[in-house]
Amino acid sequence: MIHATLKNLPTEDICIQVSIDNHPRQYLCECGSASLLGKKDCLNLGVIFISHTHIDHFVNFDTVLRHQLGSGMRVVICGPKGIAKQVQSKLWAYNWNLISEDEVQYEIREIQDENTIKIYELRPPKWDLQPITELEGPIICQNESLTVRFTILDHGTPSIAYSFKEPDVVSFLQNESPFAPGPWVKMAKAAFLANEPEMLINIQGQNYLAAELFPYFRLKTGYHLGIVMDHLASEANHEKIIKTFQNADQVFIETYYLNEDKELALQNRHSFAQASAEVMRKAGVKNATPVHFSRRYAEEEIQLIQHQFKMAFG
Ligand SMILES: [Zn+2]
Ligand SMILES: [Zn+2]
Repeated sequence: MIHATLKNLPTEDICIQVSIDNHPRQYLCECGSASLLGKKDCLNLGVIFISHTHIDHFVNFDTVLRHQLGSGMRVVICGPKGIAKQVQSKLWAYNWNLISEDEVQYEIREIQDENTIKIYELRPPKWDLQPITELEGPIICQNESLTVRFTILDHGTPSIAYSFKEPDVVSFLQNESPFAPGPWVKMAKAAFLANEPEMLINIQGQNYLAAELFPYFRLKTGYHLGIVMDHLASEANHEKIIKTFQNADQVFIETYYLNEDKELALQNRHSFAQASAEVMRKAGVKNATPVHFSRRYAEEEIQLIQHQFKMAFG
């Protein structure tokens, strides 16, 4: 199971912590000012995901850096084109004459387009940008517990939406199977997952078609979490959101404006309550949460945005 926790109060910028059951590392989405993000939260971060580098998404990277100094960690930062130099510029704003080389390192995964990710490394004290390699999209991050994909939305500037998915798991229904467990179970699970009914599976010297064994297996689809930040409420963006987050279990979506301020939303390349809720409904998202509200609103207006979202999501 993937858990997402808001580290910001409703009137603050945006910052979401992502953790997974039985997984040693945590993840952070966005570095806006967030009073609930503490030192401990910054010390076991594997990857930081940034949608874009408007100040309300990136200002708190300095605090994260402050907590990570001396930890010896290698932290990955994913973000849009230009983020490698922007991280470097932040690092260059300080004096590093007393730092040792192994205090902390950053690996930057910079998304060029939907299919290309450039990887750089930054090490103290000079923080020179070292190109390492290139990755092919849309998978930007993968380990045994998680696959992270992305899509690029239009917010006047590229804004990356991230999809976190646990692996699908096939379970063996031992109580319903006439065959005792054995080495064949592993093969049959692989055939089930790859949907290869013609595969021959040997059970105690006798061959069976995989299709005959499929009734004794069940697919449990991995939990799917989405983080959709600033985006224009346009048809092109909505198409991408619907495709990337189809039937997701939970999505946090930018809902910057009240319905009444729709014009302002269009002008500033943002979304508003009804548009965000409708795209979540069309994607078949099970649980959708509006986040990231304009600073022009007081708490009562934020509650009204949440209400408008709820009404349109249904
Ligand atoms: Zn923005
Ligand atoms: Zn923003």
